Amino acid sequence: MEMKNDNHPFDNGDQELEEVKKIATDVDYSVDAPVNHDHKLTPKEENKLVIDDENLKEIYHSSFVEYVSKIPDFILAFGEGEKCLCCMDEGTPWGRHGAGGFLLLPEEQLKSFFEKLHEAGITELTSHDGCGAAGLKYSGLSQIEADAMAADYIKKIAKENNFKYRHISAEEMKRPPNGHIARVAYFDCSGKFRNPMAVNGLPRGFIIGEELEGQEAADNDIAIALKIAFGPHSLVKSKLTKDEPFIIVIMAESEKQVTETQNRLKKITEPYGDLVKFDNFIVDVQDFDQKK
Ligand SMILES: [Zn+2]
Repeated sequence: MEMKNDNHPFDNGDQELEEVKKIATDVDYSVDAPVNHDHKLTPKEENKLVIDDENLKEIYHSSFVEYVSKIPDFILAFGEGEKCLCCMDEGTPWGRHGAGGFLLLPEEQLKSFFEKLHEAGITELTSHDGCGAAGLKYSGLSQIEADAMAADYIKKIAKENNFKYRHISAEEMKRPPNGHIARVAYFDCSGKFRNPMAVNGLPRGFIIGEELEGQEAADNDIAIALKIAFGPHSLVKSKLTKDEPFIIVIMAESEKQVTETQNRLKKITEPYGDLVKFDNFIVDVQDFDQKK
């Protein structure tokens, strides 16, 4: 998908800042929703999917903990990542995350959210091609138009709040431009899962962190992730079965936090039955701080 940020065909004027009250459940990600994607994958992308397949099979047959215990560099996923805010999209796994970065956060929460980003050392906001969150914020527009609106909005907000701004093109993204391939969501309660790109062998997945955007927004991101994974924008929906389900990996600092998070998220996963399962990883923060 090709898009020019500075040269899109409409003037967004003031209307772009119209408050977003729409929550994810209002959006039509149903199986019958119209799809304009070409579902063919390039050979390179097919290859990567096979790698994801193999890695996921190992997780299905054991557990996430067991799987990552065989990845020597897994600890690097908890090191410092890039200093940017990216979408939770599996194609943009850099820095810290939210739906569209922050596109779906209520406006009244933006100020404190940006303060937290500054405190966390985040220096850059990003937008990206084919953004589902942009599609939700600017519903009724085509994807390319919604992406352009989001890019302009994020660019403007970045300037106003002293962040740099960057657009991530379809070519740079870690998923095919025509759809989603995530069969995992990494739900990070620890605030430490910041650099999955440093690790070879992690299946591509949505990355959701509750530390900066807060619990409610993070939970909502899980709802969005599932709607995408089981909706018409997924290229791997047919691979998801009760034996090989979508996995939500809860990264938490204690068993208690895992249980609490899982109990909370169950309300969202319930409609998907056996097609979604939970797994977890206990983040030993002290251990990681020492080894960093
Ligand atoms: Zn996005």
